[in-house]
Amino acid sequence: MFFILNPFILPANIQKKTQKTIEKTSEILPVAFTGRIKSQFPAEYNEFIQAIDQVPAISLRTNPRKFHLPVTSAKVPWSASGIFLNERPAFTLDPLLHSGAYYVQEASSMFVEQAFCQTEHSGNRIVLDLCAAPGGKSTHLLSLLTETDLLVSNEVIRSRVSVLDENIRKWGHQNVVVCNNDPSDFARLEGLFDLILVDAPCSGEGLFRRDASAIQQWSVDNTNLCATRQRRILADIWPALKAGGYLIYSTCTFNPAENEENLKWLAENNDLESIRIPLLPDWGVQEMETDGLFGYRFLPHRVKGEGFFLTLIRKKDGSGSCTFSKKIKSGIEKMPKQFAEIRNWLTTPGSGFYVKSGFLIAFPEAKVPVLNALADQLRVISFGLPVAQFKKNDLLPEHTFALSVDRNPDIFEAIELNLRDALLFQKKEEIRIDSNLKGWMLVQYMGVPLGFVKNLGNRANNYFPKEWRIRMALPELLLPWYQF
Ligand code: SAM
Repeated sequence: MFFILNPFILPANIQKKTQKTIEKTSEILPVAFTGRIKSQFPAEYNEFIQAIDQVPAISLRTNPRKFHLPVTSAKVPWSASGIFLNERPAFTLDPLLHSGAYYVQEASSMFVEQAFCQTEHSGNRIVLDLCAAPGGKSTHLLSLLTETDLLVSNEVIRSRVSVLDENIRKWGHQNVVVCNNDPSDFARLEGLFDLILVDAPCSGEGLFRRDASAIQQWSVDNTNLCATRQRRILADIWPALKAGGYLIYSTCTFNPAENEENLKWLAENNDLESIRIPLLPDWGVQEMETDGLFGYRFLPHRVKGEGFFLTLIRKKDGSGSCTFSKKIKSGIEKMPKQFAEIRNWLTTPGSGFYVKSGFLIAFPEAKVPVLNALADQLRVISFGLPVAQFKKNDLLPEHTFALSVDRNPDIFEAIELNLRDALLFQKKEEIRIDSNLKGWMLVQYMGVPLGFVKNLGNRANNYFPKEWRIRMALPELLLPWYQF
């Protein structure tokens, strides 16, 4: 028997896991944590601790508007686009990762999809992802929403906004606004949102087997602090939820004070209905019910995924919906008439084209009043999808336009690259284009657009954004991991 070492699969000893430095994760768990787990799950305690020592499952969620992985991998049972991988590849050396064809995401988190499926709506939703960085659940929501809905993706910590913005841009949707606000700032937008996701900052117990730093940061004081902070976040955001609107609350911890007790506290102080989420028994997800309040728990020995908690509620009280003041001045201008033909660049009928800071940005026309209201009250970082940049009297196509799911495929010639050239392009190095055509061209890999080049014949200018370039050196042997 022999095997070929695939350089895309990292050897187990350098995979991101606690076992890099220690034998068993369970040996460094704080006594106060294991004591609480023992009292929470007395009959399952040993299985729980054994599961903490297992290697975590690797999973990802594909972008259904861009790509379907040619593999017959095991599917994440609660998400239509989630799959498990057998081993962790070197994702950085995959061009598709950098073009938003998939998002590497822990499987339990994808359960948000099941909660989303329980929300009734009549279209035109305004959805807030309050604690959004780095963007796992925002990209998931974008895939679940329709193009007439709008996602407001917010992150309070300034230094985490750029990675959120980058992941949103790569996903390629235009019905999105990214902002950088404290939850209390949203109180000014009373009754605006049809759905709010609060994926709260928490004590992170569910991440212990993947991330040793989560264990180091854990303390009883910190879990109490997290529970108090979560209540403040929920109280701050509640007025912004429309009457009849939904709130999904989730954490990646097992701590009841941050989970079911916060749900109980919310129900005691507000008029709400707890919504049940149908489960299949083989998922291993645990439903908890106390006084008509339902919560869903992911335990490491029962599910193929990390620790997670989620609950779905519907607001009964409060103002019906937000009205927008006509006095709000729009911070964006309409596209100059001479560029009207650029409307053909996108296939979505409801797209408006607006000018902001030298860029031409596509954004759903019907959602401009909402955008203006958001910009009036919040710190908006970006909106819509940049299509082109104004340069003198010309318009240069933007990288984000290449990644757009609404891009008209007939507008630019596309050239397929091999794996090495695709990665060299994303390293922003020089590549040769095998075409007699000159000028702007899309480059793609496995049919997924990667960005633009301008072919000059003897060489091609590479328009991959410098700040997103791959910094890792390329190994001699390159093989795509999904052909294995
Ligand atoms: N939803 C994200 C995803 O799926 O990729 C993960 C969110 S993470 C669990 C929690 C987020 O809450 C972090 O990005 C963190 O910066 C943010 N956060 C921290 N303190 C916060 C606060 N006081 N209010 C709101 N968000 C906070």
